[in-house]
Amino acid sequence: MSTATATELVPFSPPDIGGAEIAEVIATLESGWLSTGPRVRRFEEAFAAYIGAPHAVALNSCTAGLHLSLLAAGVGPGDEVITTPLTFCATANVIIHAGATPVFADVDPSTGNLDPASVAQAITPRTRAIIPVHYGGRPVDVAAFQTLARRHQLTIVEDAAHCIEGVAGGRKIGTTADFTCFSFYATKNLTTGEGGMVTTASAAAAENIRVASLHGMSKDAWSRYQHLGATRYDVVMPGFKYNMPDLQAAIGLHQLTALGEHLARRDATCRRYDEAFVNLPIGRFADLAAPDVHARHLYTILVDQRTSGLSRDELAAAMAECGVASSIHFPAVHLHRYYVERFGFSRGQFPHAERIADTVLSLPLSPAHTDSQVEAVISAVKAAFRS
Ligand SMILES: *Cc1c(COP(=O)(O)O)cnc(C)c1O
Repeated sequence: MSTATATELVPFSPPDIGGAEIAEVIATLESGWLSTGPRVRRFEEAFAAYIGAPHAVALNSCTAGLHLSLLAAGVGPGDEVITTPLTFCATANVIIHAGATPVFADVDPSTGNLDPASVAQAITPRTRAIIPVHYGGRPVDVAAFQTLARRHQLTIVEDAAHCIEGVAGGRKIGTTADFTCFSFYATKNLTTGEGGMVTTASAAAAENIRVASLHGMSKDAWSRYQHLGATRYDVVMPGFKYNMPDLQAAIGLHQLTALGEHLARRDATCRRYDEAFVNLPIGRFADLAAPDVHARHLYTILVDQRTSGLSRDELAAAMAECGVASSIHFPAVHLHRYYVERFGFSRGQFPHAERIADTVLSLPLSPAHTDSQVEAVISAVKAAFRS
């Protein structure tokens, strides 16, 4: 999804993989246990401790986590689930996978996050769940969603693909919803190449997700790696193949301990961009007030032809000429062809999300970037506005 020339000087979001990750992968290969096993268990325990969540279940993607969370919540045919159009398509696709109907509400133009007031207007007797997305790493108004959930008896499944480090109202993201889903995709703040995790306070829901993630095989079968000799198992549901292998947990274990250092680096880059672009005719989302913590997954600017003098796409093309990648988060989900054709969504329904989708540009952001790469981004952006 990112744009850049063949001679890319600044990739969009390169992973920051250290020697510890590499050594752990080699140790895993040498251990003889490659699929779900002891390293996945250790990663789940370390992740749950980091978040402060009672249960964490490792999966092969955040998408799998969102899907299984909806199923564990009992969402199915006839139900409606409300989410934001300003997200990756997976957030809405899983609602369809669960057999339910996706319903969108608009975002707050000052943050890009799902607006609880807009969600309240979209609630019907069929609404069963809400999937707020912590857009770009900025926590949503979790208290407002909890109030809506209590009032209407809804399940909250947070899409925290961007927000591992986030804190809202003194509470760590991952502890504020019925289910919270994290992504360890290659570009995310913590990566295992591909991977995901669900945190929940419910032991029964965690167990349901664990069983559903591995063919629906019963608990005994799940822990069969611990057994010697022949094992027996029973299938209690037609499950999926969503489990995380130890090879990926090996990377995650050490990415987790690097998170604090990586966030400090992301934060410094964001501040450098803020300072460098202060006089440019671009829009930006409001600052997040401490003690809330922004996970700094994306650095986004809003480039509107009318006020900026050039379009978002012209800026991206000019940056690519300089070898600097950029990306768009996100094209509005309701305007993708499948959503238009199947559900009849049209332009104009969610004006704030649409305006952001049309003007937003994400700049390179990774703890793996050098200072000179950050300066190259700044030079490329400034040069585009000068010409
Ligand atoms: C990356 C992403 C996902 C999907 O994560 P996977 O681990 O690739 O399944 C879901 N939602 C958002 C907002 C994302 O950015």
